[in-house]
Amino acid sequence: MARYIGPACRLCRRQGEKLMLKGDRCTGKKCAVDQRSLPPGRGRPQRRKISDRALQLREKQKARHTYGLMERQFRKHFAEAGKRPGLTGENMLQILEMRLDNVVFRLGFADSRRQARQIVCHGHISLNGRKTDIPSCIVKVGDVVAWQERGTRTKYYEIMIDQIPGKIVPEWLSLDNDNLSGRVMAFPNRNEIDHKIDEKVIVEYYSR
Ligand code: SF4
Repeated sequence: MARYIGPACRLCRRQGEKLMLKGDRCTGKKCAVDQRSLPPGRGRPQRRKISDRALQLREKQKARHTYGLMERQFRKHFAEAGKRPGLTGENMLQILEMRLDNVVFRLGFADSRRQARQIVCHGHISLNGRKTDIPSCIVKVGDVVAWQERGTRTKYYEIMIDQIPGKIVPEWLSLDNDNLSGRVMAFPNRNEIDHKIDEKVIVEYYSR
């Protein structure tokens, strides 16, 4: 599946806000948004009034970049959300949260979703005991996400287990610190999804 391979900070500068795409760096002094607030490719701020459509597009792009998806896949998740009962916007965020790469990130196995995606793609993660290298795989309640034996022999794993106690795992997941595996306990509620994403605006964007 295609993915964006350009500079992550450029996406934040384009949005004009922190999308937290680079783990620890995002909270440090080197964050590009903190250092320069101008969007990429422009010498000075534009004074143009932004249309409603542009604002909707911006919100959709913010969600898409936050989860590291290309348009086609993001749209696929949105279409799936529309088929589920309940509010389409909240369903969409729920589906995005339950992607395997996001769950690996939420469990603290990676500092960013990008890194989580790489860990999954490299075959270091198992889902219910079976190796799974598909980051877009949607987990279900009761599923167990764990490290493959091969992954536990890496230098990265050694560093990660030292850092894991300091990470905060959301309530809809439970982390077994001894075996370093996580279980999906429930669907995430809207208030457990900590992004400043206005999902209603994204629904409006796709409704036109
Ligand atoms: Fe965005 Fe993180 Fe780069 Fe800051 S450091 S611009 S939050 S990706």
